[in-house]
Amino acid sequence: MLETTPPRNSKNIQINKSWCKGCGICTGLCTKVLAMDGGGKAIAANPSLCTGCRLCETHCPDFAISIGVDVN
Ligand code: SF4
Ligand code: SF4
Repeated sequence: MLETTPPRNSKNIQINKSWCKGCGICTGLCTKVLAMDGGGKAIAANPSLCTGCRLCETHCPDFAISIGVDVN
């Protein structure tokens, strides 16, 4: 069976703005949660809607997004 990486805590979306080049890949993948700010950097506009799927983290070419680990 195919193994997948489990979702992580959706409430902790960290975006390193100095690494983000504003390509828009993440915001295109996740329009409900992510958006671009006025400076052309990705932001977590609606973090409460994040499911922790990590699509954004795994597709960012600059490793600028980190979805937090659930420490419960
Ligand atoms: S995919 Fe990465 S580099 Fe591109 S906009 Fe999102 S955070 Fe920035
Ligand atoms: S982890 Fe998934 S739901 Fe959360 S911001 Fe990234 S792509 Fe969107």
